[in-house]
Amino acid sequence: MAEMFIGGEWRRARSGATYPVVNPATEEVVDHAPLGGIEDVEEAVRVAKEAFPSWSKKDFEERGEFLRRGVEILKAHREEIVETLTREQGKPLHEAQGEFDHLLHGLTYYADLATKIRGSYQPLPSRFGPSYGLIIKRPIGVAAAIVPWNFPLTLMGTKIGPALVAGNTVVVKPASTTPLAAIKVVGYLNEAGLPPGVLNIVTGPGRTVGEALVSHPDVRRVAFTGETATGRRILELSVPHFKRVTLELGGSDPVIICPDADLDKAVRGVLIGRFWNAGQACLAAKRVYVFEEVYDTFLEKLLAGVARYEPGEGWVKAERPRIRIGPLHTAKQREEVQAQLQDALAKGGKLLYGGKVPEGRERGFFFLPTVVAEPAHDSRVVREETFGPLLPIWKVKDIDEAIRMANDSIYGLGSSIWTYNVKWIHKAAQEIEAGMTWVNQIHYGYDELPFGGVKQSGYGKEHGIEALDYYFETKSVVVGDLE
Ligand code: NDP
Repeated sequence: MAEMFIGGEWRRARSGATYPVVNPATEEVVDHAPLGGIEDVEEAVRVAKEAFPSWSKKDFEERGEFLRRGVEILKAHREEIVETLTREQGKPLHEAQGEFDHLLHGLTYYADLATKIRGSYQPLPSRFGPSYGLIIKRPIGVAAAIVPWNFPLTLMGTKIGPALVAGNTVVVKPASTTPLAAIKVVGYLNEAGLPPGVLNIVTGPGRTVGEALVSHPDVRRVAFTGETATGRRILELSVPHFKRVTLELGGSDPVIICPDADLDKAVRGVLIGRFWNAGQACLAAKRVYVFEEVYDTFLEKLLAGVARYEPGEGWVKAERPRIRIGPLHTAKQREEVQAQLQDALAKGGKLLYGGKVPEGRERGFFFLPTVVAEPAHDSRVVREETFGPLLPIWKVKDIDEAIRMANDSIYGLGSSIWTYNVKWIHKAAQEIEAGMTWVNQIHYGYDELPFGGVKQSGYGKEHGIEALDYYFETKSVVVGDLE
């Protein structure tokens, strides 16, 4: 049975309760995790608060070193962590390896930044005698890191990395359905010699453990990734305490395929963009708009690519040219995608591929990659986030129509355009309402660039040097009486 890591020790829930973690490919139990409660949150926040004063005073270089050592320890346990991630989350092994490597890359990026944090100097008018100002940065305190199930490791890393190098202490709350690999990662990072209480993990339901963490008065910083509706609740709970909050929320990323696009590259970008992680990615390519001149050719190439996907257990390799696609993460997730598809078909959409559970896959939460053409633009696949392997496609006349349809969403996370026309690239960069536009590139969250949505997709940024700003409070200092 897995345990939580609190105050430098492995612990069960105070209540002794546990719950099963289910393998989405087989519906078998992978392991049991502690069903944490409010009292476990209290304890984790208490030890994190206690650890804060000395951790926040540690040399920046030393904090970076802890993280670097942690990364080396994680590398030695790559196989075990990747395997656990595949079994609890459902994603194919090569995708789990990709996620693990991305985690290490992100943690190393922040370890490298530890010594590059700067404040600033400001000359001041000598109204009260000569003086100057300094803007200094101070870590905030205990940070809560609330993580979803689609990328349990990278989305934890984007919070732990900047929080720790900035000098905060952390309590992680993984998604209930994916606690196991996250627990291992937190345990191994602690083996790097982190002082007890600096990095903790508490497992249990969002409604109790998550809410207790967010509303705890000693938690000063909340970093959340998950659904927009949950983000709204987290903000409501945080506002009375004026906590520093960042929210990375849902998306409905549009992709525009222009007539001059390299169609083979664009098809590859859309396939990876939509079907990676069985379509369960915030920045997945969720709506495709193709210029009419290249619509038929694009579709032909796309459907040939979609036919290569073979749903199956993540730990079984697909024979080339087949590409493995895992199950959806839960039965509820699959039902949601099925309902969105039915709505799209009822609203004029034409099913071009998939649309059902693959034959012989009655166990597990599998669903065929699915393509649907031209559903009405008020159907659920446009109004809502589609979090599964369901791709709607529309034909467009020109760039203005493409951008208008791209912006017809409550979301604004990512977006992409496939063209070499500099005017269209400029227009997309300026006019698409999103936190990110990829040009001739696959949708991917680089550690080096600030990432986060606009409209209902987000509040604040993760990744990049910019993420560090959310883990510091700035303070202005005036130094006077200089002569
Ligand atoms: P949820 O919002 O359901 O859950 C995310 C986390 O919040 C889980 O740990 C969950 O715990 C916890 N939680 C749930 N309810 C509460 C609450 N009331 N108070 C505090 N914590 C709570 O999201 P999913 O796990 O379903 O993740 C998928 C979503 O994440 C998608 O919408 C996706 O787009 C978004 N996402 C956004 C990204 C971005 O960077 N913008 C990146 C990746 C995903 P529990 O599991 O116990 O319910």
